[in-house]
Amino acid sequence: MMISVEKTKNPKQKPHSDQLVFGKVFSDHMFICDYSPEKGWHDARIIPYQNLQIDPSVMTIHYGQSIFEGLKAYRTDEGQVNLFRPIENIRRLNESCKRLCIPPIDEELGLEAIRKLVDIDRDWVPEEDGTSLYIRPFIFATEPHLGVRPSKNYSFVIITGPVGAYYKEGINPVRIYVEPNYVRAVKGGLGEAKASANYAASLKAQVEANEKGYTQVLWLDGVEKKYIEEVGTMNVFFVIGDEVFTPELNGSILPGITRKSCIELLKSWGLNIKERRISIQEVYEAHEKGQLKEVFGTGTAAVISPVGELNWNDNVITINDGKTGPISQRLYDTLTGIQYGKLPDEFGWVETL
Ligand SMILES: *Cc1c(COP(=O)(O)O)cnc(C)c1O
Repeated sequence: MMISVEKTKNPKQKPHSDQLVFGKVFSDHMFICDYSPEKGWHDARIIPYQNLQIDPSVMTIHYGQSIFEGLKAYRTDEGQVNLFRPIENIRRLNESCKRLCIPPIDEELGLEAIRKLVDIDRDWVPEEDGTSLYIRPFIFATEPHLGVRPSKNYSFVIITGPVGAYYKEGINPVRIYVEPNYVRAVKGGLGEAKASANYAASLKAQVEANEKGYTQVLWLDGVEKKYIEEVGTMNVFFVIGDEVFTPELNGSILPGITRKSCIELLKSWGLNIKERRISIQEVYEAHEKGQLKEVFGTGTAAVISPVGELNWNDNVITINDGKTGPISQRLYDTLTGIQYGKLPDEFGWVETL
């Protein structure tokens, strides 16, 4: 499918590299493509960033049939622009489509849309250390209709915007509240899809944890509230003794691309990394025995987010003296090194535009 291009006649003022915040400023152009049962996905186009027109009855508003992705474009020292494993995002988008009864997109179209949009707005990829261009593909139901069933029509849209360094003063461990009541997802639900609805489900716990002074929550399984699932909107890893553990993908955990990359890196370093069910009890017991060395979250936004403190039913433990551990630091340095083109890309993860 051809992607047509209409360039903006009014380029926006770009924010200064040191004033970037997440999700506030968007680049000059957007990608959009529509679906109808008659035409399939059609009319792929890049147009000036603009409002969408929607009927008040569009199904996405009422029934939440909406999914998204998140990835970044990184500026290298040579002035080129790198994408990190974009095919993984497109594949995951299609997995989310399946779960929410949305017709999948052609992988090559998805990739080409990202490449072309980032290329057209490549001046928007900031240069300052640690900054990047955030890319947000999403698909939502556009049929005007009340009544619960899958929509007949959809739009696939991509917007981008420059974002600042997640850690301005080096990576910093966060305090985490182990959520005893609310759950994010359950097996058989939407947890393994990147569905907007999962975020709606998470807000209340997030707000209450913030009020208690915690940055994010550690989610336990939705049935027994014993087994660890994720931390905030990240996957989670534990270094216990000389092994590294992360919860296995069980149907309610989002299969993170950073998670997958960390597993591959840890294996390549000869470390013992295991994907398995892990209970919060076990983590606390490991801490008792002095074996819990590191806890960290993984995700596109922060890359690696070390956990310095856990509060589970008012039992507070401090991990690695509240400092970033060596494995967290090495993963962070390696992943960002590959993304920004400072380290060799031995796994073929990077695509340069
Ligand atoms: C997006 C997301 C992640 C992280 O995925 P990455 O591909 O590593 O960015 C983890 N958990 C949830 C719930 C997410 O939505």
